[in-house]
Amino acid sequence: MDIKSNITEIRTTIENVCSRCGRDPEEVHLVAVSKTKPAEMINAAAEAGQVLFGESYVQDFLDKVDAVTHPVAWHFIGGLQSNKVKYLRGKVAMIHSVDRLSLAREISKQWQKIDEPIDILIQLNLGAEASKSGTDEEQLETLARQISELPQLRIRGLMSLPPYCDDPEEVRPYFRRLKELAEMIDRLQIPNVEMHEMSMGMSHDFKVAIEEGATMIRVGTAIFGARN
Ligand SMILES: *Cc1c(COP(=O)(O)O)cnc(C)c1O
Repeated sequence: MDIKSNITEIRTTIENVCSRCGRDPEEVHLVAVSKTKPAEMINAAAEAGQVLFGESYVQDFLDKVDAVTHPVAWHFIGGLQSNKVKYLRGKVAMIHSVDRLSLAREISKQWQKIDEPIDILIQLNLGAEASKSGTDEEQLETLARQISELPQLRIRGLMSLPPYCDDPEEVRPYFRRLKELAEMIDRLQIPNVEMHEMSMGMSHDFKVAIEEGATMIRVGTAIFGARN
């Protein structure tokens, strides 16, 4: 597993896709998804210049975070139980997976304790899959308005984890829909709500996601190899 060359290859792909569709590669951030992977691999990625890492499991993250010696930034991207939010307090720069008011309230409460702001994304369940977290389209506006009133939280955009399709083209409509929803919310001009960030696209479909406006792609397998 050559983490460094994987990262280099993904960065080249990001640049190629961006130049093909007329986007600035600077606005596409690579989130290296290191869930289940050990600190040594994260350090290796950091040595290759990677700064932003995504984690999905609270305990797995806590077990290794102190062993990551490079200055990196952490984003939490996985399903999150409210009673575990306190363990992330002050340790993560962004939470991509905010999908309900009770969770947002708990994040607000915890970050009030350290008197710091925290960036969040609202997660949409566009495929309406029972197995996945995320709010649905009908509730999005209400949820955004409610969250916007909570102290410390800064809504930066939307995130989605669409249904897995072997053919990335089949995922394109979901990415497009997420972008439309972000534009819809943006037009409402809710105070304290920004819709600049679009967290979408994973190892097998990030090219399509970039074409559809992703500003954060969450790539695990293509950097660190398959997970057990
Ligand atoms: C695991 C995970 C990813 C990364 O998936 P890969 O297919 O390994 O790139 C992206 N987003 C979320 C929310 C994940 O849980």
